[in-house]
Amino acid sequence: MRVTVLGTRGSMAVSNEKMREFGGATSSYMVEEDGEVLFFDAGTGIMNIPEGTVSGKQILLLITHTHLDHIMGMPFFLSDFCGGKRLDIYGRSREGETVERQLRHLFSRPLWPVGLRDYSGIKIVCHELEGEIEAGPFRITWTESQHPGGAVNYRVDAGGKSVVLATDFEHSSGSEERLVAFSRDADLLLYDGQYTEKEYPSFRGFGHSTPETGLQVFRKSGAKRMRIVHHAPDATDEELKRREKLLKAEEPNAGFAREGEVLEL
Ligand SMILES: [Zn+2]
Ligand SMILES: [Zn+2]
Repeated sequence: MRVTVLGTRGSMAVSNEKMREFGGATSSYMVEEDGEVLFFDAGTGIMNIPEGTVSGKQILLLITHTHLDHIMGMPFFLSDFCGGKRLDIYGRSREGETVERQLRHLFSRPLWPVGLRDYSGIKIVCHELEGEIEAGPFRITWTESQHPGGAVNYRVDAGGKSVVLATDFEHSSGSEERLVAFSRDADLLLYDGQYTEKEYPSFRGFGHSTPETGLQVFRKSGAKRMRIVHHAPDATDEELKRREKLLKAEEPNAGFAREGEVLEL
């Protein structure tokens, strides 16, 4: 299994010379196994798909939730990568709206001129998340995250390897223990560590966590590698490298995700 970090900035896309190393594109990750590909989230990072990767007839897109930083790349992704293909989108109903209805807000005038189903030549199939999903080589499981308005943590197992995406996750009221069980023995844990321990008390309830709590979840779960994701939009490369150094001193198999990073599991 190969996991590529296409974008890992949280909240909003950023671009300046102080954020080149970790990147400014928002949440999107690609998982490849046996020539098949799936994506977690369609933030602006999804436009960083390496050329030639999406060659099959079917694309799987697992949406954690429809906050803008997780779907903002979709209008461009549909026109540039999905022509002539079937796109299966998975997500959860929120506020009484299916994932398709949630996405339609973005794809409606005057916000955007083209409707979700008005892109020619794409067969879009939207699915409500229910139980376990088997798709090609991938076995997909999910659990409810701790995040305002709701979000989903995903686990993908394929070819004897596994990756867990716990972005937009806050540790509170036992959510860490549930995540420990969900991440048991995973080969890679992608964990939301947007805030430092010092910042966190001012942002309690915002739906994000810290690298220190990520480290506890990582150790208890028996996961083999960890990358901190959902970097704050104002966190510079210098700052993220400083935080990474502290984390690596505790745990050499942990680090901060960089846009473009390829993790072979
Ligand atoms: Zn987010
Ligand atoms: Zn969110």
